[in-house]
Amino acid sequence: MRFSKLLIPTLKEAPKDAVLPSHIYLVRGGFIFQVASGIYDFLPLGKRVLDKVRAIVKEELDAAGCQEVQLGFVTPAELWKKSGRYEKYGAELLRFEDRKGNEFVLGPTHEEMMVELAGQFVNSYKQLPLNLYQINLKFRDEARPRFGLMRGREFIMKDGYSFHADREDMVREFELMETTYRKIFTRMGLDFRVVEADSGAIGGEGSKEFMVLADSGEDTIVVCDGCDYAANIEAARRSESEDVPEAPEADLTKFHTPGVTSIEELAHFFHVDPYYLLKCVAKKALYDEGRSEIVLFFLRGSDELQETKAANSVGANELEDATEEELEAAGLVPGYMGPVSIMRNEPEEGKAPFSALVADLGVPMIFDNSLKGAKQMICGANEPDYHIVGADLDILNEEKFADLVQVKEGDICAKCGGRLSYTKGIEVGHIFQLGTRYSEPLGASFLDRDGKSKPFVMGTYGIGVSRLLAAVIEQHHDDKGSIWPASVAPFEAVVVVGNVKDEAQLSAGEKIYEALKAKGVDVLLDDRPERFGFKMKDFELIGFPYAVVVGKRLSEGKVEIVARAGLNRTEADTEEAAERVAKLLG
Ligand code: ATP
Ligand code: MG
Repeated sequence: MRFSKLLIPTLKEAPKDAVLPSHIYLVRGGFIFQVASGIYDFLPLGKRVLDKVRAIVKEELDAAGCQEVQLGFVTPAELWKKSGRYEKYGAELLRFEDRKGNEFVLGPTHEEMMVELAGQFVNSYKQLPLNLYQINLKFRDEARPRFGLMRGREFIMKDGYSFHADREDMVREFELMETTYRKIFTRMGLDFRVVEADSGAIGGEGSKEFMVLADSGEDTIVVCDGCDYAANIEAARRSESEDVPEAPEADLTKFHTPGVTSIEELAHFFHVDPYYLLKCVAKKALYDEGRSEIVLFFLRGSDELQETKAANSVGANELEDATEEELEAAGLVPGYMGPVSIMRNEPEEGKAPFSALVADLGVPMIFDNSLKGAKQMICGANEPDYHIVGADLDILNEEKFADLVQVKEGDICAKCGGRLSYTKGIEVGHIFQLGTRYSEPLGASFLDRDGKSKPFVMGTYGIGVSRLLAAVIEQHHDDKGSIWPASVAPFEAVVVVGNVKDEAQLSAGEKIYEALKAKGVDVLLDDRPERFGFKMKDFELIGFPYAVVVGKRLSEGKVEIVARAGLNRTEADTEEAAERVAKLLG
């Protein structure tokens, strides 16, 4: 290919809203062009990278026995209604009608469609297992499309779905997909971690994400310094610390705490460690069909609520902050909510003056696991300006407990006892043990060995194909531009002719270009009638792995080979240059 013929509109300036290197360099390097918020055209260079990413994904999946298909992007709403997701998916799902009034959605993911397909054509256990995938458009009407290809509205995903006769076989495939994904991301030159992820209402360890480590990542991941434990913060677990602060000593009673509502103020007021303060986080839980309710989540004052865990604990689609007005309307006392009320005992020798009861607040209460049997807690008294001190929470044993806590840096690893810390990641892949979540409601079943009809046991596997372009650059760039790993570079090398008016230079450049092509190198010839410096700037911005520069020293039989990573220059004999570059590319 000749640079002079290709549409590569490199730009000096980055778009105003671009903050991430990947966004800036993809636009400035002429890879992509924004047509609307979160919607991009891929220009020739962008399309080439996209195709290389796709090819790696396809090669590895096919080698693992998966079969590529391509499903409609426009999908009937009816299927989404059957699975129950038409409501659940919320505003990200773009719904519309055709001219006859039939309802459709633009596919944000394709479980329903793929289950429908398997249900049609797979009838017997003899046809299982089956793993079907596509590399295709998705549309999600994201609330905040941003960061270029990182979070688009229209984007390209590889989505795969596997069908099995039983759980055991599905787990085998899940593990095969983990190995396959590792190969895929390694081939793209990415530094990544496989992390335990939120599995929503299904729970368990059946969901893993592939996180490319980058400060710009939108996901927080918890990693251990002592073992390979890594988890998305939404799913991270910890071990309870044995290093518990000394408990206060107080008899159960009500205490006047005028205007003292925050954990900080309370800790100061009572001179106690926040560990002994009961934190109440009130949320509005949103369910299907517009249903919502106030839920109170309780945890220790030294902990923070993890919202995804909290939403899962009540099966909610989402949580919103509850306003003071909403709490008051529900008969609650903002700032002083607690799960315990106290009752004065009949005066009797040796008997405590008060006993505790579970407060009847008329709204669901969920307690963090670390509160099981907690002693000497201070909690809101459900009365303005009062707290209860000395509360033992054994009385709550029959209430609902769940893991609600957001793991903090310095917490203890549940796997090995090491220390946990945070790092940032870009989610580029997600594998999920689905079970019969979709096959059952959609009535997709097969006849098993024993002649019984059973729903498919499924797994689902996604890769953010277009997001990968951004993720690669986030890890491979400098202050001049992208530095593509050869496996996904738009071209593996460029031959830059310093001055195209110099016939000797042009013909030597063409010779090296042809020699590289003959060696199977994916090469571009920069034959533009531009100044040398300008062409080198484009090389640095676009980020081809190598440049062969044909310049003034040609008369001495020399050219220069520039490695984009580190911009190291070495001289080579003109005759040898192609051989050397081919070798460097391996
Ligand atoms: P996120 O948490 O980043 O919103 P997700 O968990 O909703 O992603 P999945 O449903 O797991 O996404 O989709 C599979 C893959 O598709 C993700 O791992 C991610 O790489 C990619 N992806 C998801 N949303 C987008 C988007 N808006 N733009 C680009 N890629 C995306
Ligand atoms: Mg995901």
